[in-house]
Amino acid sequence: MLRRLLPTLVALGCGLLALGWGLVSLQRIFSRERDDAHAQLRSRRDALAHAGEEALRQNLTRKLDESIVPLHAAVGDPLEPGEGFYLNFRDYQFLPRLTIPMPGTETPARDLWARLGARLKDGGAAGAWEPRLTRLRAVEAALAAKDARGVAMRVEELLRYHAAHRLPPEQELPFLLLVVERLQRGDATPPLVRALLREGLPEDFGGFARASGLQRDLLRERSRFTQADFDFLHARVVQVSAALGEPTADFLARASEAGAGMLVIPEDLYEPTLLGELWYVEPRGEALYGIAVDLEAMLQPITQDMQARGLFDSTGRLRLRAGGAFRPLRTLKLAVDLPEWARQEADIDARYGLKTLLVAVCGALAVAIFALAVVAQQRKYRFLELKSDFVATVSHELRTPLASIRLLGETLERKLAQAPEVRDYPARIVQAADGLHFLVENILSFNRIDKGRWRLRTSRVRLEELVPPLRDELASATSVPVHVTADVDGAELEADLGLLRMLFSNLGRNACAYNRRDPIEITIRAQVIPGYGCTVLFQDNGIGIPASEWENAFLDFYRVTTPGTEVHGSGLGLALCRRIMKLHRGDIQVAASGPDGTTFALIFNEPHR
Ligand code: ADP
Repeated sequence: MLRRLLPTLVALGCGLLALGWGLVSLQRIFSRERDDAHAQLRSRRDALAHAGEEALRQNLTRKLDESIVPLHAAVGDPLEPGEGFYLNFRDYQFLPRLTIPMPGTETPARDLWARLGARLKDGGAAGAWEPRLTRLRAVEAALAAKDARGVAMRVEELLRYHAAHRLPPEQELPFLLLVVERLQRGDATPPLVRALLREGLPEDFGGFARASGLQRDLLRERSRFTQADFDFLHARVVQVSAALGEPTADFLARASEAGAGMLVIPEDLYEPTLLGELWYVEPRGEALYGIAVDLEAMLQPITQDMQARGLFDSTGRLRLRAGGAFRPLRTLKLAVDLPEWARQEADIDARYGLKTLLVAVCGALAVAIFALAVVAQQRKYRFLELKSDFVATVSHELRTPLASIRLLGETLERKLAQAPEVRDYPARIVQAADGLHFLVENILSFNRIDKGRWRLRTSRVRLEELVPPLRDELASATSVPVHVTADVDGAELEADLGLLRMLFSNLGRNACAYNRRDPIEITIRAQVIPGYGCTVLFQDNGIGIPASEWENAFLDFYRVTTPGTEVHGSGLGLALCRRIMKLHRGDIQVAASGPDGTTFALIFNEPHR
């Protein structure tokens, strides 16, 4: 069988291989298609991100350029806003301003201010402060005398002395505060005294270098005071400024300006760089300039501009890719988030998945077709084998009775006169002819039923009617006595009489053929189940059928080989019986079988009357 199947297998295998190669190539094309589509999307996205990065770089540089003037102003004037600027020159951070107070809780400046105030009041000796206090008292006296020229002269003298004898800021500021407080007279305050508060003294009084106004000096020298001293001086300066009608808004704002502390700058910073996402710094000459930035906010106008130019729709968004703490501007990377593209990417993947599924299904189908073709081919050869076996068997079966008929006829002719040896020859000739007739009938009926050409002619058949002809047929078909007993109790069936006869003949002949007993016993019983149908049990006392062969015995051309018995047959009888029963919408089965005989159950489903 395998040898006969080999060419088919080889042809199918080659076909399968070719198909497999085709499917693999197709799959490769699909995956290249998907990669190309992804790459196309990626390159569009990269181009947009690149444009966004370029715009952001330009905006940062421009913003820093615009900040240079206010940044310089903040460095020169402590009252100018310095928040959001960074300036480092020769390793000193000018901006953001360092607002770190002296550690500790002492208040030396406040104490000095109180002590000097007390000395002014009680006139007591003040040591090194005496020349200053004396000059201050003189101004007060001139003020009290309303001597305008005297006041101007005394104030000038006091300030010249002060300028000539420099004090450290932690002493100078409480003293100057005391001076302003003592000498302020509202609108009548001497101009130089008023200048001490905010505007600063002219250059020849020590202005610019120091004494550029208490407000500025306090802010500039903040780190020389403890927090308590600073708070004290700050409150008094605000108080006296308010009394003199001097502006305090910027002073208050700068005093409460949040100090950013020291920014950590990498040693080798030599190009525009982002520090985290908060600062943008750029080295220019020896200085390092910087501005505080809100990158997310800066990205918005760029995004809007791109939307306006139709580069992406209103759902698109530029986003900063995560980066390190120090990021040179040239390495800045943006990402473009566009739901439409995400959808397109998902579509590409879904299409690819579908195509892959199709290829897989085609592959599975090809394998299934291959398997089916092999099975069909195998079945075909098996059928051909069965057919040729059947032809061989039937030819043999036909030849045997024919040979017998011929031999018996010749012998009968020769020995016609000589009795008694030839007495049973005519009977045997008839028997052989009957056997042949039975076989031919079986083949014809089987063929007609198999091809659906049998037209069922049903009538009410009484089971009893079938028994006498069966008895006669078996008596003439076999030399061993056959006892057929029937217990059918007047049972009737709606059936084709001709087919029922053929059914009983086949069962009866098998009962005789596969039997070694003498006499042969056949019992037919009918069990009627009202409303359901009728079961006819056909029992013999033959050699029995092995349990494993009960179903196989009904297959077309199937013969059960029983060691020790040599019975000729075609393997058609029981197959025909089953077809007859199926035609009657019933079935036939082996109900029981063993060494004592076999019982076949004929199940007629049709309701019995
Ligand atoms: P055939 O008798 O031509 O071989 P059948 O289809 O009638 O073909 O029977 C199939 C096989 O079943 C037989 O080869 C036989 O071995 C077994 N068989 C059928 N009827 C009986 C029976 N009554 N007792 C024992 N074996 C039987």
